[in-house]
Amino acid sequence: MSARSVTVLGATGSVGLATLDLIRTAGAERFSVTALTANTNAVELARLALELRPRFVALGDPAAAPDLAAVLDGSGIEWGAGEDAVAHAASLDADWTMAAIVGAAGLKPTLEAVRRGGAVAFANKEALVCAGQLFMQAASDSGARLLPVDSEHNAIFQVFDESRRAGIRRIILTASGGPFLHASADEMKAAKPGDALAHPIWSMGAKISIDSATMMNKGLEIIEACHLFALGHEKVDVLVHPESIVHGLVEYADGGLLAQMGAPDMRTPIAHALGWPDRLETSVARLDLAALGKLTFFAPDPDRFPALRIAREAFDAGGCAPAVLNAANEVAVQAFLNGQIGFLDIASTVSDALDRATREDTPQLDDFDAVLACDAIGRRLAGDAVARFSRAARLKDNG
Ligand code: NAD
Ligand code: MG
Repeated sequence: MSARSVTVLGATGSVGLATLDLIRTAGAERFSVTALTANTNAVELARLALELRPRFVALGDPAAAPDLAAVLDGSGIEWGAGEDAVAHAASLDADWTMAAIVGAAGLKPTLEAVRRGGAVAFANKEALVCAGQLFMQAASDSGARLLPVDSEHNAIFQVFDESRRAGIRRIILTASGGPFLHASADEMKAAKPGDALAHPIWSMGAKISIDSATMMNKGLEIIEACHLFALGHEKVDVLVHPESIVHGLVEYADGGLLAQMGAPDMRTPIAHALGWPDRLETSVARLDLAALGKLTFFAPDPDRFPALRIAREAFDAGGCAPAVLNAANEVAVQAFLNGQIGFLDIASTVSDALDRATREDTPQLDDFDAVLACDAIGRRLAGDAVARFSRAARLKDNG
């Protein structure tokens, strides 16, 4: 069996590093690395390149290129910097691509990988939220195999009987509930970035950690699931499950529920996608259900976590709305991390941007440029909302 060639987009992130860890453990006879990309962390990217010897590496931010050049020039490894270089990395022929860039920044390279074909392991949920139809169409045109990496979607993928869709009643995404599962509304209002970043179960990048705290992560995942499994959102339910052992469930017409379980460690869903259709050996801690004793489940609180409703409404509205939702959320999360707005202002910013977008002349979402135009509208409207919320907070502090 020849080695599977792999490209990792977002190689220096939490999902990217976990992917490379599995590749390293499986060994060169199983995997060879075609391309790696990162945004600003040239030092880490260069280190990974020297170790894994890809054909090409790309850095999103050209300002950091000299650090990459200093290590890679003369090494025999080609490199490039800037958005086009990242897209070029994605376009190189590889059997399997991990799409793990965070946010809408991953749209273009991920689409490049899907258009090329092969297997595309999808972690970059924001790309599916913004442009789900385009991605699913591109995959069907190129024959690319989309392998869900998000733990809930990966779980559902494993227990979803595609050949008997008519027998499926609904799917259920579980949610850990994040750090504010039991917090009061007042505590959430006063939350600082450090409180919101401290996820009780999962160790992840900053953006998705804040999304977990607002539960916008689950809102984005509802939309992601609708596209991946071709379902209306009324067939996608959310269940809070603080232990994060059961990752996703499919309910069948006969009343049976099929679930996938595993320790809350992203290496398991990533390994499932990396080895697919075979299973890879991992060093993930084995589940000891007897030691766990019990698992708990309950319904999410719609009042403290309005993001779930906001995401469903954006999906229902269709057109530009999901891309506006995503862009506004990215702006709001960054503004919260920068200390410009409060924690509860994140959902308010998104909701405000969506309301205002309905009064604008937004484009039809029929091509990639239209998605980028909707993304830009979301960023502008959210920027306005952030300015209003932060001004209001300053006036309150001064008065
Ligand atoms: P991260 O912040 O740890 O890493 C993000 C990666 O994207 C980095 O390699 C970074 O260099 C790259 N990147 C960021 N901006 C870029 C840009 N403008 N151009 C090119 N590259 C850019 O994020 P993460 O936690 O690894 O998450 C990656 C994706 O996977 C996200 O979409 C997230 O929602 C999804 N995801 C993550 C987890 C998890 O456990 N971390 C779980 C499920 C889904
Ligand atoms: Mg998830």
